[in-house]
Amino acid sequence: MRVGVVGVQGDVAEHVAAVERAGDRRGLNVEGVAVRNAGVVPDCDALTLPGGESTTISRLLHRRDIAPEIVDHTAAGKPLFATCAGLIVVSRDARDNRVETLNLMDVTVDRNAFGRQRDSFEAHLDVTGLDEPFPAVFIRAPTVAEADSDVESLATIDGRPVAVREGPVVGTAFHPELTDDFRLHDLALLDPLTDDS
Ligand code: GLN
Repeated sequence: MRVGVVGVQGDVAEHVAAVERAGDRRGLNVEGVAVRNAGVVPDCDALTLPGGESTTISRLLHRRDIAPEIVDHTAAGKPLFATCAGLIVVSRDARDNRVETLNLMDVTVDRNAFGRQRDSFEAHLDVTGLDEPFPAVFIRAPTVAEADSDVESLATIDGRPVAVREGPVVGTAFHPELTDDFRLHDLALLDPLTDDS
């Protein structure tokens, strides 16, 4: 299986490692590849869209013609895991017109939603689908402000969704690639690819 890590900005190596380790644990041959230009996404079975700066990421995705490939990827029902700025980019509205969102999830997000006091923090989060809490690292993270009814909230902080799923797209406001815990890469990417039902 080939998992593309959209590496125009952000934690590419960490996502590649997480998804390959998740594959190892299942005895699957998973290859993580960095996506920096158009032409790679169509050969990927699943995609990760890492964090970084959503204004920059969205601009580069459009400029390099990767954006329409990501849209086609999810339209074909293939898994996409978007983290932090990635979640902002896949939303329908980031309440900031400098972000050209891809409109792949029926959510509106608030950028930098936790304010200065809680700029960065770690929380042990209960996540739907995981047996044990997940060590979630938040860095200038967004939250979901509004979501349509077809969006499933998988985890919340202070009542606000910070992990969501809609169809083949899973988004987290935090950075799972910065921990040794690859259960969310497994849940978002490999579960759907190996589900025969
Ligand atoms: N604050 C960033 C943004 O709004 C996201 C931060 C991150 O990805 N860690 O784009």
